[in-house]
Amino acid sequence: MYDVQTPHATPSADVIAALATDAAAGLGRAEAAKRLAQYGPNALHRAEPVRLWAIFLRQFRSAVVLLLVAVAGLSIVFGDTPEAIAVVAVILINALIGFFTELSAVRSMEALHRLSTVSARVRRDGALAEIDSTELVPGDVVELEAGDLIAADLRLLSAHKLACDESALTGESAPVSKRSEALPVLTTLAERTNMAYKGTAISRGSGAAVVVGTAMQTELGAITQLVSEAKDEQTPLEKRLDALGRHLVWVILGVAALVAGLGIARGKDMVQMIETGIALAVASIPEGLPIVTTIALSRGILRMARRNAVVRRLSSVETLGSANVIFSDKTGTLTENRMTVTRLDSEAGGAVRGAGGAWTIEAPAHEAIAEALRVAVLCNNASVSGGAGQPWKTIGDSLEGALLLAAVENGVDPFDMRRNFPEVREEPFSSDTKLMATFHSSENGAGGPLYVAVKGAPEAVLPICTEALGGEGSHRIEESGRALWLVRNAEIAAEGIRVIALAFKRVRQEDAHPYSDLTFVGLVGMIDPPREDVRASIEACAEAGIRVIMVTGDQAPTARYVARAVGIVNEMDAPVVTGSELRPPEQLSAQEADEMRRVNIFARVSPQQKLDLIALHQAQGAIVAMTGDGINDAPALKKADIGVAMGQRGTQVACEVADVVLKDDAFHTIIVAIQEGRVIYGNIRKFVIYLLSCNIAEIMVILVASLLDWPLPILPLQILFLNLVTDVFPALALGMGEGDASVMRRPPRPAGEALLPGRYWWRILVYAAYIAGATLAASSLAHGPLGISRDASVTMSFMTLAVAQVLHVFNMRDRGAPFLNNAVTRNPYVWGAIALCAAMLAAAVYVPALQSVLQTTALTGTQWLIVFGISAAPVVLDLSARGLRRASGSLRPR
Ligand code: ADP
Ligand code: MG
Repeated sequence: MYDVQTPHATPSADVIAALATDAAAGLGRAEAAKRLAQYGPNALHRAEPVRLWAIFLRQFRSAVVLLLVAVAGLSIVFGDTPEAIAVVAVILINALIGFFTELSAVRSMEALHRLSTVSARVRRDGALAEIDSTELVPGDVVELEAGDLIAADLRLLSAHKLACDESALTGESAPVSKRSEALPVLTTLAERTNMAYKGTAISRGSGAAVVVGTAMQTELGAITQLVSEAKDEQTPLEKRLDALGRHLVWVILGVAALVAGLGIARGKDMVQMIETGIALAVASIPEGLPIVTTIALSRGILRMARRNAVVRRLSSVETLGSANVIFSDKTGTLTENRMTVTRLDSEAGGAVRGAGGAWTIEAPAHEAIAEALRVAVLCNNASVSGGAGQPWKTIGDSLEGALLLAAVENGVDPFDMRRNFPEVREEPFSSDTKLMATFHSSENGAGGPLYVAVKGAPEAVLPICTEALGGEGSHRIEESGRALWLVRNAEIAAEGIRVIALAFKRVRQEDAHPYSDLTFVGLVGMIDPPREDVRASIEACAEAGIRVIMVTGDQAPTARYVARAVGIVNEMDAPVVTGSELRPPEQLSAQEADEMRRVNIFARVSPQQKLDLIALHQAQGAIVAMTGDGINDAPALKKADIGVAMGQRGTQVACEVADVVLKDDAFHTIIVAIQEGRVIYGNIRKFVIYLLSCNIAEIMVILVASLLDWPLPILPLQILFLNLVTDVFPALALGMGEGDASVMRRPPRPAGEALLPGRYWWRILVYAAYIAGATLAASSLAHGPLGISRDASVTMSFMTLAVAQVLHVFNMRDRGAPFLNNAVTRNPYVWGAIALCAAMLAAAVYVPALQSVLQTTALTGTQWLIVFGISAAPVVLDLSARGLRRASGSLRPR
């Protein structure tokens, strides 16, 4: 066991030695694997092993099984042993089907859990590797940067402007600065500034640290109980389905009692009537609904993950389907985030980059351009590699990478530059100030003046500049000079070019304030092409009734240019509101709020202001999706109905609070998620409608036959056979459907709409009436004109009902979808389910053992023809009803 008792009081070198690791190279892979086996995975919960027998036993804990046991008991009491055996068989088959569906649900849920893991960057065998944070072991050396979640207890080895948000552990909300020096033994947890604890997050800076404790051997572990995997909470949808089921049970028990009472009062066979009542009750309890829902949800989510949208919460699937406003940021989502510097502008003249990458510099500007490149390279956290025949590659922020490349293209060696000007302090970039500064000990050596390099948004940099660098050194710059530069900035930005300003100064003290008395050097212009597929996605949104609003930290002219390029707006002069004009909704008059809501471009927006934008639209009942990537975006991602984080550019903190993570950062993937959200919800609605209409049809058949005092068209065991053996498969298949493109040609589902609004209940009743009508027709035909035996008659009506139910899946196509080519007919599971049902129905009629239990006989060819003819009626009726609706719809004036 590698254990350090008081790591905070031990010098880091000794911690490294005690853990038998290496600060620079990390652990070896083999050693790490050995320790993982020894210490176990780094997780606070234990994944509950799936116990197969427990799942199997669970299948017997339902009202349905109790009712069936009652039927079996009744049969034995009245001496009908074969029937009792048959019922027991039905119970077993039902349990088996339930077992396999639930197992499939459990497996899909496990796959979902594997999707949403936190990763860690560790040094292994001397190289940087990205691993799942559950694989961290004591002795691992991890690299940290702003936005990372800390997954184990760490002793810091180096810290660069590092600060942690430890509120989760200590309740302290202000970030705690971190360093690596050893502390006194008695230092309290909250003051151990050389440790970083599991469950906290890095709010700024960077550093490296060694893992001293994992899983339960962490401070967080000490205050948490070892919990088994948190139970997946029910989604609102599943809760509503449960409620639906519970309501139905009462209605149905009433009907079942009525049927049984009526029959007995009329002097029918009492046992058969009680059994019929029970069979009806069993038939109609929609016990399959919750599990089919889980499968539909989890399968859909896995399908989304394959298309780069990782859903972190099951319940967001529902919300996705009703999203009607998307706030999207610009850089990297609407654009490629592949920036190239195209121009530099200074008082002394400019430099432009030709198509081939060669630069032309106006002669008097050489000095100023050199200074600009120095600021660009120094005030920069990206790194560059390549050269000597290799293509240049940059790592880090793409804007900063572009600056490095521009320097390289102009013959500046970033390595030399950084060696000659070692950095002593950094003010990291903040999207609130839109400024960044670095302090460097300069060419005059230590003790001499410090060089301060500043870059940021032009309207943030210019006001803090008092001088400007021209052809012959620097000169004072007044308000008018600054204004001229702002005009220049606007001109460049209007061409869709991203502009940042560069400035510098020399100071004596390291703790000097960076953002005052600067010398303005110039403007840098860079292009970032819009993503190829964005225009099509935005058109798709318009068709789907979803509004797309751009919200960016960039300036108004650039924002408007890109918005036009991708089709968010079409006019040259589309209104743009900037962050400074934004106010919380409660401070706006109703009219002002309406005006704000019409705006499609918001520029210079700070992460905090995103909250106001969300509130503004939510106040009107909109379902808002908001993108975000930074630590500061977390509140907005939480407040939005759907928080969308960027998987590549985004910080772990943003990903953690988001509902959806885009693995490829692409806008298109948001649309994919919304489309799949709609498909999944549609699928759930379809199989609920399907199951309910089948069950209600059975009730209608029995109810009508009892009221009219007809012989029963289906017998109790046949009802059980249909419900517990055949109906499930088409329903499951409907739940797996992939939907079709038409889902994105409809407006979003209204938020808060019931799973089945009134019109759907109406459809269910009409479908049930079609199916029941067909069954009763077959029954009366068989009993009347055909004059065949009782068993043959019942077999005919039983088969009519069964086949009509199977064919009924084809009625589950979307409105307006063609009859032959739609999401149902293209769903291979549907055809599989139909084949399975056909085989089972054939067995019910032809296998002798089943014949005697279900009281069926083999049908003749003519009888089968009649069965198929009549059972196709519901499909034909539905087809004609749709045709009529379309015809009357097209006659209606527009
Ligand atoms: P976006 O919405 O385009 O991602 P950001 O919030 O990232 O906008 O940036 C806002 C503005 O801050 C940019 O337009 C630019 O002027 C400035 N900026 C962005 N990144 C940096 C950086 N690394 N250093 C200095 N300034 C930056
Ligand atoms: Mg950004």
